Amino acid sequence: MAEMSCDVVVVGAGNAALSAALAARDGGARVIVLERAPEGESGGNSRFTAGAIRTVYNGVEDLKKLIPDLTAEEIARTDYGTYTREQFYDDMARVTQYRANPDMVELLVERSLDTLIWLRGKGVRFLPAYGRQAFKVGDKTRFWGGLTVEASGGGPGLVTALHAAGERNGIAILYGTRALSLLLDERQVRGVHARQGSRSFDIAAKSVVLASGGFEANSEWRTRYLGPGWDLAKVRGTRFNTGDGIRMALEAGAMPYGHWSGCHAVAWDRNAPEFGDLAVGDGFQKHSYPFGIMVNARGERFVDEGADFRNYTYAKYGRVVLEQPAQFCWQIFDGKVLHLLRDEYRIRQVTKARADTIEELAAKLEGVDGAAFLRTMSAYNRAVRQDIPFDPTIKDGRHTDGLSVPKSNWANLIDQPPFEAYQVSCGITFTFGGLRIDTEARVIDTEGEPIPGLFAAGELVGGLFYFNYPGGTGLMSGAVFGRIAGTSAAKAAQVYV
Ligand SMILES: Cc1cc2nc3c(=O)[nH]c(=O)nc-3n(C[C@H](O)[C@H](O)[C@H](O)COP(=O)(O)OP(=O)(O)OC[C@H]3O[C@@H](n4cnc5c(N)ncnc54)[C@H](O)[C@@H]3O)c2cc1C
Repeated sequence: MAEMSCDVVVVGAGNAALSAALAARDGGARVIVLERAPEGESGGNSRFTAGAIRTVYNGVEDLKKLIPDLTAEEIARTDYGTYTREQFYDDMARVTQYRANPDMVELLVERSLDTLIWLRGKGVRFLPAYGRQAFKVGDKTRFWGGLTVEASGGGPGLVTALHAAGERNGIAILYGTRALSLLLDERQVRGVHARQGSRSFDIAAKSVVLASGGFEANSEWRTRYLGPGWDLAKVRGTRFNTGDGIRMALEAGAMPYGHWSGCHAVAWDRNAPEFGDLAVGDGFQKHSYPFGIMVNARGERFVDEGADFRNYTYAKYGRVVLEQPAQFCWQIFDGKVLHLLRDEYRIRQVTKARADTIEELAAKLEGVDGAAFLRTMSAYNRAVRQDIPFDPTIKDGRHTDGLSVPKSNWANLIDQPPFEAYQVSCGITFTFGGLRIDTEARVIDTEGEPIPGLFAAGELVGGLFYFNYPGGTGLMSGAVFGRIAGTSAAKAAQVYV
């Protein structure tokens, strides 16, 4: 006999889970949310984010639907640009090397703005991402890279707003409660078996939404699926996403789907802790490499730092750093661009070297062949096309000539003191492989049929991201597919017998 019952159980308490819970509640369901983490660490990776969220908008009128308090003066001095549905489709296709599931991409793109408007109606507040996605050009602030909106208060603000909305809507969140397995009656899902402390118990439900994240915090699965070396990556976010929801669904016959050997991984401070630290949030990341160069232990460059806007390269460059000798590199900048470095370069917990000459800097780069580094610097500086103007708000084409590893945009001479260097390793954000869902977020089994009563959303769903990822899409996909999963789960609960 189950100790508790409801219409819909949601596993997880991040952005996808709460979007599902709120949508299920809209559909009239009684909802219980299970959160493995204690309350102080709740909210999964969603809490660790800056809250940047990628949505279609066709101009400032669309932004005003999300941010009605934009002032006339603010609008006059800002070029917000647009991010059209065509651009979002193009970005998803291009960065995933045309592998992303088209039905899923269509839902993501077409429902993006509408879903954010719905979340605003639930009490989530949004702002223009002035700090990280805009530069001053003349007397205007100009947005770049298609990522213009962020949740007020970043990830912590988003999760606080979602949990508060849950509470207002009568959704119970059980903290410190880990879902262990699905309750099954033949193929029909009837609830979950869970553990709270030393006590385990059943919760009967008419449908279950799995939204418990990927397997990035599970070093054994990382090594098994992503490959050798991934056990050495640092985890950027929560320690609780160990693949439980994926395992539970696979045990119930679900089909594995998507890029199981792929993940989102970035340049992350070499001395950051094993898992994310909520006091630092995403501050260990170091995303301003397009304005400098990166060198490995051999003192060599190994990747085109200016291949594209950082929004379209950062998620795949963590893997490239992991592949370097001793899994680290140094990012090098000169005095000309220090004002362009993102806020995360100014945190206290940073691995940094500073010098007045390149020679002095070379001696300070721990673990690097200094003589080779100086040769790399001279070759790089000789190759910069100084005749092309530098502009950080566009792909300016200011490139290098004749290097075996080119730099395609934003190539400046590195010649003006002070010189600064930041040591980074690889930080994994989330895994790309997971479960297969259909357009109603029903979990599909290995026969290609929906598993009755089982729905999924967020990081644990496969099929959207391959090789790479456009910044701000994780939160957007969690919200879009969470909302769909919750709506479908509530509908399924009504027809349950
Ligand atoms: C440092 C960092 C910065 C990021 N910045 C951004 C950004 O600015 N914009 C963006 O779009 N994306 C960003 N991302 C990615 C983004 O965090 C994820 O794509 C998104 O938050 C995933 O949401 P989710 O709800 O699927 O998972 P999560 O938010 O991770 O939620 C999973 C939940 O499941 C719970 N859980 C796990 N196992 C169980 C279990 N067995 N039982 C019960 N509960 C369980 C976890 O505790 C957690 O509450 C960032 C990620 C990190 C780590």
